[in-house]
Amino acid sequence: MAKTKQFKTESKKLLELMINSIYTHKEIFLRELISNASDALDKRHYLALTDASKADEYEVFIQLDNEKRTITITDNGVGLTEEELVNNLGTIARSGSKEFKEGVENDDIDIIGQFGVGFYSAFMVSQNVTVITKSVNYEQAFKWSSSGTGSYTISETSKEEYGTTVILTLRDNDEETEENYDEFLTEHKIKSLVKKYSDYVRYPIKMDVTKTDYPDDKDQNPITYSETETLNSMIPLWKRNKSDITDVEYTDFYKHQFNDFEEPFKVIHTKVEGLTTYTSLLFIPRKAPFDLYSEKFEKGLQLFSKGVFIMDKNKDLLPDYFRFVRGLVDTSDLSLNISREMLQQDRQLKKIATNVEKKIRAELEKMLKNDRETYIEFYNTYGINLKYGIYEGFGVNKEKLQDLIMFKTTKNDEFVTLKDYVNAMPEEQKVIYYASGKTKDSILALPQMDLVKEKDYEVLLFTDDIDEFMVNILMKYEDFEFKSINQGDLDLVDKEVEEKLDELSKEKESLLNTLKEALADKVTDVKLSKRLKDSPVCLVSGEGLSMEMEKVLKNMPNANDAKATKILEINPNHEIFNTLETLYETKPDSVKKYAKILYNQALLIEGLPLDNPVEFSNLMVELMIKGNK
Ligand code: ADP
Ligand code: MG
Repeated sequence: MAKTKQFKTESKKLLELMINSIYTHKEIFLRELISNASDALDKRHYLALTDASKADEYEVFIQLDNEKRTITITDNGVGLTEEELVNNLGTIARSGSKEFKEGVENDDIDIIGQFGVGFYSAFMVSQNVTVITKSVNYEQAFKWSSSGTGSYTISETSKEEYGTTVILTLRDNDEETEENYDEFLTEHKIKSLVKKYSDYVRYPIKMDVTKTDYPDDKDQNPITYSETETLNSMIPLWKRNKSDITDVEYTDFYKHQFNDFEEPFKVIHTKVEGLTTYTSLLFIPRKAPFDLYSEKFEKGLQLFSKGVFIMDKNKDLLPDYFRFVRGLVDTSDLSLNISREMLQQDRQLKKIATNVEKKIRAELEKMLKNDRETYIEFYNTYGINLKYGIYEGFGVNKEKLQDLIMFKTTKNDEFVTLKDYVNAMPEEQKVIYYASGKTKDSILALPQMDLVKEKDYEVLLFTDDIDEFMVNILMKYEDFEFKSINQGDLDLVDKEVEEKLDELSKEKESLLNTLKEALADKVTDVKLSKRLKDSPVCLVSGEGLSMEMEKVLKNMPNANDAKATKILEINPNHEIFNTLETLYETKPDSVKKYAKILYNQALLIEGLPLDNPVEFSNLMVELMIKGNK
């Protein structure tokens, strides 16, 4: 006699949610049922170590019946007793149902596995689910059946083998919502779902597959027959011993799993055992994906639990600065089937993420040390991510990344690290010099380089937009501050010279003030320069925002009006200074015009736009005419 029972209240709500959800990943029902079968096989296998109830071969078998619209999934695992049927399929006595509900509403692909309600996912595609099962611990077999609408029936039945058969009667297609369940009845779809989600399940997942032979003789009809096939490859590459895996196997796997045509630039395969146990298989692609820097780009690693695919891009497993890394993490700690509270899982994942980050970094450090050429190749493709990494989050990661960044310098056409730079510094050099510009040549031509060149100091070339922003966060390397050759005061001249200059500045105060007045709305100060040697003038920025940063901000999508403070420096040793002095005595009015010309020239040298090109042009022409008279 069949007994009819009600689902526990919690379960009822959940079932309703399942059935009515607009969940787009309905296909995961197969993953869930196969996982349950695989667990049951695990359990039986385990029991068999102490018990005689051993199957010849543990397996999962899938059958499709197009007429009855059924998918049948059979395993020869432990099976269920009547009590277990009631407790395990009639109840969801688990914490976290509230989070689950929210998850379903958010269409989170992983949520079903996380909360151990996998079995219920069958109702997303089925109008009826029937379970026929015989437990290795009980001689009677039982049949459990439900259409998911609040109640289920249990009755005795007969079954020869131990194990469980789950029969899904698929729902009818719904024209209104365009829901179509027929595809789940095709061999092709089942095959691809097994490949996608369950390829690495340890037991064979079999199905009778239709095959066609085409005879050589074209007049004969093709012969169709059915053959049992194992759909999954069972052993994941990453579970095998590193020493047994060839480069070709890694490459093939990478290309297939991550849809790349090229072989990976680097493979990092790690097995970790201990408090958290996991395997990670990571790849650095040879070329950066074209959308790596677009907002649409999704970073992340594939996540597996004991060989079962859970999700494609888990973004928490990779920091932004390693966003270009592809690969997967397989952990048994984050079980599909043993449900835990979200928080706990998060903690495990965070630990893994920390380890993954460390591992990638360690590999890069090793590459830099042992194979600089390869590292430079890596750096050319991905280096800018590391610079952003230093800049982001107000520098929380700067210690981790500062030894991985590199620059070309005024003395070196190859990249040098900050450590290289500091090691090569002469004793008396107290700061790390950098200069921003588009190219090495344009930087070398800057008037501000005069004295630095004379001192023969090396200068880091900042050619990426991010560089100056990054260095403002980095501030120091070891004990050395960073100093821009065109910002703030530079400490390049000897004490005596400096004192003389300070004296001269006082002496010429009224001239300098006149120049400053002429440029009152342009610059914050006009000074005698301590960095120029051959050039007449230059513009430098005060502390804070630099002129390079101003240019970058101006070009950003939501343009920023922030302006650098500008200081005009005049070379006291240049003839132009004498000219200004003489002019100040004889024709004080002309001095103002000269100030404007000099300021505009300095702007041009810096690559900044002129505020008023017409005025500048007129002043130049006026000067040319007068000069010839
Ligand atoms: P979980 O697998 O996370 O425990 P499910 O909802 O997927 O949650 O399954 C509920 C329970 O039903 C399982 O824990 C297991 O005890 C039982 N079960 C489901 N499918 C099978 C099966 N094929 N063989 C034996 N037991 C099963
Ligand atoms: Mg399950």
